[in-house]
Amino acid sequence: MDGSGIAGRRTDGRVGTIGPMAHRVTLIPGDGIGPELAEATRRVLDATGIEFDWEVVDAGEAVIAQYGTPLPDHVLESIRRNRVAIKGPITTPVGEGFRSVNVTLRQALGLYANLRPARSMKGLETRYEDVDLVIVRENTEDLYAGIEHMVGPDAAESIKIITRAASERIARFAFDYAVANGRRKVTAVHKANIMKLSDGLFLESCRTVAAEFEGRVEFEDRIVDNMCMQLVQKPELYDVLVLPNLYGDIVSDLAAGLVGGLGVAPGANIGTEAAVFEPVHGSAPKYAGQDKANPTALILSGALMLRHLGHPDTADRVERALRDVIAEGRTVTYDLGGTAGTQAFADAIIERLAAVPTAQA
Ligand code: NAD
Repeated sequence: MDGSGIAGRRTDGRVGTIGPMAHRVTLIPGDGIGPELAEATRRVLDATGIEFDWEVVDAGEAVIAQYGTPLPDHVLESIRRNRVAIKGPITTPVGEGFRSVNVTLRQALGLYANLRPARSMKGLETRYEDVDLVIVRENTEDLYAGIEHMVGPDAAESIKIITRAASERIARFAFDYAVANGRRKVTAVHKANIMKLSDGLFLESCRTVAAEFEGRVEFEDRIVDNMCMQLVQKPELYDVLVLPNLYGDIVSDLAAGLVGGLGVAPGANIGTEAAVFEPVHGSAPKYAGQDKANPTALILSGALMLRHLGHPDTADRVERALRDVIAEGRTVTYDLGGTAGTQAFADAIIERLAAVPTAQA
């Protein structure tokens, strides 16, 4: 196995041998540790036997000098064309006036749902066992709409936007996800006791959608502060959580902490036009190019992508192979207590994949 760069990159930006049934996917390696994690993930996904036609496009710090922006138009066009992308983390330069590539991507492509599963794995040192949560975060509005201004020199105002359309859309996504993935319950998280209009509308929208799923998926709601306490006391009581943008951002990090932290937390941003799969963690520049970083979060994001592309059994196989390697603990990266490099970890997963046939997945 080679372990450097994107193997076999062709002059047209594609990699690999391509058959007629291959999934064409935009691959954005990203900054910092991104390229080595992308390489490890691509090798694992290619080893599943599912055919991919990778369209490799660069975004982030490395392209600013060439294109004057970290997100050139051709990157967005590639995702729009292929409708599916997987990306490594991208550095947001501080104080240079560029908006976060991640926020821009979500807005430009209408990626309204942020899906962040948090599931315990044997072999990871955590305070909890058997956590299995799915966070569904609204990705387009709330305080992240970026509408804020100064009111005189000594006061600032941020406007929280909540609409019925976006709230019902994210609630429907959560319930559809629950049905498609055999999950039993959706919990809506809010602060409607204080923000009676905005969070009240979010809760009302969730209740409206919940009524359509009555008898198929249970529904309940929790006030966000109580939710945080409950998640650290008895996370096993919860299943799928649906939240407005800000609470979703905070609670998904809390959930990641319950199962082993950022190095193992995958994510997906899903819209009607496209879906972008990425880890929750950032570009960890201090580990860049050292073959040290943990590829788990990006590989698990790849498993989410396999499900999205209609290969749930193969996604299960990848998750199982990864879990087995972590549980054994022999070939894992430094953050999981091992000494293996990024690519050796990926090699161990690939070897394990061969021993996990589809039928048993
Ligand atoms: P970070 O997640 O990059 O790193 C924080 C620390 O977590 C690292 O120093 C490292 O110790 C550990 N870590 C993270 N990922 C790891 C991995 N895969 N394996 C092993 N250890 C890992 O957070 P940061 O330092 O706050 O951000 C660095 C840059 O990443 C910033 O420019 C930020 O804007 C960007 N960022 C990008 C995304 C994204 O692209 N979606 C998300 C978050 C942060």
